[in-house]
Amino acid sequence: MYMNAKAYQFPSTSLIDRFGRRVNYVRLSITDRCDFRCIYCMSETMEFLPRAQILSLEEIFEISRAFVDLGVNKIRITGGEPLVRKGALDLMRRIGALPGLRELVLTTNGSQLEKSAAELKAAKVKRINVSLDSLDAERFRQMTRVGDLGQVLRGIDAALAEGFERIKINTVVLKNRNHDEVADLVAFAIAKKIDISFIEEMPLGIIDGHNRAEEYYSSDDIRRDLEKSFRLLPSAETTGGPTRYFRLAGTNTRVGFISPHSHNFCGTCNRVRVTAEGRLLLCLGNEHSVDLKRMLRANPGDADRLRKAIIKAMALKPERHHFNIKAQPIILRHMNATGG
Ligand code: SAM
Ligand code: SF4
Repeated sequence: MYMNAKAYQFPSTSLIDRFGRRVNYVRLSITDRCDFRCIYCMSETMEFLPRAQILSLEEIFEISRAFVDLGVNKIRITGGEPLVRKGALDLMRRIGALPGLRELVLTTNGSQLEKSAAELKAAKVKRINVSLDSLDAERFRQMTRVGDLGQVLRGIDAALAEGFERIKINTVVLKNRNHDEVADLVAFAIAKKIDISFIEEMPLGIIDGHNRAEEYYSSDDIRRDLEKSFRLLPSAETTGGPTRYFRLAGTNTRVGFISPHSHNFCGTCNRVRVTAEGRLLLCLGNEHSVDLKRMLRANPGDADRLRKAIIKAMALKPERHHFNIKAQPIILRHMNATGG
């Protein structure tokens, strides 16, 4: 049951928060489930949400459509591992066809990419981020607890063969686990003609595999390490998000740094998230949210009410996060349910 399109009359600049930031980008966690158990993301014995508690595919589509109606032009599908959710490809095909959406993009651990790359391309997914923390099979397994490096590398090759607009590797860097591999990972990105971003670990959810403060490795440390082998040229390029980009002289590869601790990026924040449970989350590092699932289930088909709730939620967007890697996490939700 859909709301008629005629009732829609919000301007495309409806989503502006109290600090004048325009929200035009939404990250959707379409499942909290995952076939990996990365040590920075989950505990080994992670319990997933009961199915009834997570949004249905139809509800995710309704929410996507409401955001696009309100001027959002970029949607990222993430999770959990989005490609393990049954029906994910069909959902992406429907979202990818929404008029007004400029970019449908995906973040994946790559485990299912080999078999899904062609369908993703057909679904109009433009760009793919693949998480890859190590090029050493044993280390890769230790960081993901169960992942198979070969499977992910084959997935990257399959995506390359499909010719997506851009493929980017995301690497979470932890001291004494993979910090000594950053140059090798950049060399890999150069060889594949793709981009790479290094991420500082964020204190989301209680995890049991390592001590976050002890294994913190800053973007400045990574940059210093890389500068021994590569010439990093500062770049003004931005995706409107937290990544600071550098070009590598003589290559097509861009190196990005996502540095929540060492370089705050909140001033230009243009995004919100929808969790697997349907909470519209206004900031990764705060709990301000609106329960869209409850609203949808109480008022099926009322797209007008949904859009108004999203507009109203903008007033809740906090100015900035307050992550502190040295303290116990104040945010108890894990990244997999969050739309990271
Ligand atoms: N499963 C997919 C993947 O791994 O790419 C998509 C979801 S995952 C939560 C999205 C991104 O969040 C990945 O690049 C992952 O490395 C990153 N991530 C997970 N937990 C994190 C944490 N505590 N701090 C920083 N990045 C994290
Ligand atoms: Fe799964 Fe991605 Fe979290 Fe790793 S980072 S456990 S692949 S959701």
